[in-house]
Amino acid sequence: MPQKGIWGSNPHSSASFEKDSPTVIVPVTQNPTAEAQRSAAGSADEEARRQADEAYMALALEEARLAADAGEVPIGAVVVHHPTDRSTRRPLAEPRVIARAHNLRETLNSPSAHAEFLAMQQASEALGAWRLADCTVYVTLEPCIMCAGLMHQARVSRCVYGAPDPKAGACGTLYAINADERLNHRFEVTPGVLEDQSRSLLQGFFATRRKAKHPDQPEQPQ
Ligand SMILES: [Zn+2]
Repeated sequence: MPQKGIWGSNPHSSASFEKDSPTVIVPVTQNPTAEAQRSAAGSADEEARRQADEAYMALALEEARLAADAGEVPIGAVVVHHPTDRSTRRPLAEPRVIARAHNLRETLNSPSAHAEFLAMQQASEALGAWRLADCTVYVTLEPCIMCAGLMHQARVSRCVYGAPDPKAGACGTLYAINADERLNHRFEVTPGVLEDQSRSLLQGFFATRRKAKHPDQPEQPQ
């Protein structure tokens, strides 16, 4: 087959090239060994990411327990910074936890003192930047409208959450702020990481609180 450069330099010759040399497209899936290797590498990457997500969510759960100890609704969050090369999407450094926080709404008497909101503020201080690109926010409960809005404002790259929130969730349950195409930034969401632990922590907290308020009432089924 003639070199493409030759045809590029002679506009009159392209017709005969097309007639004489039918284009043969070789599908990349034709080599089953290469395909299997790619698939294995892909699932190994997915497994590594799942394990990392669980490890960071375990730190967020530790924060949630600290909230419960302080009489706050047990929700915790951490922010992980993973500097990434824009063009190759390869990591430029090891990921590291740059912020961890828990819900302090009662303690601070502040409607914005949600775990992930406080963690993002800390993360901005740690990086000296309002923009949290290359950051993943891990939070034990699905973010509300305010916190998903802050993730949008901060340009986070990803949010991983534990339990969905049917009454306020804004990352897929009631709203999908992360995926709204009218907005000028979208971010990836991974739901359901250590979901059962996040949920049972919340259910345990509210059950204890109900019991403290109404000690004579029989326990409600969950
Ligand atoms: Zn929130």
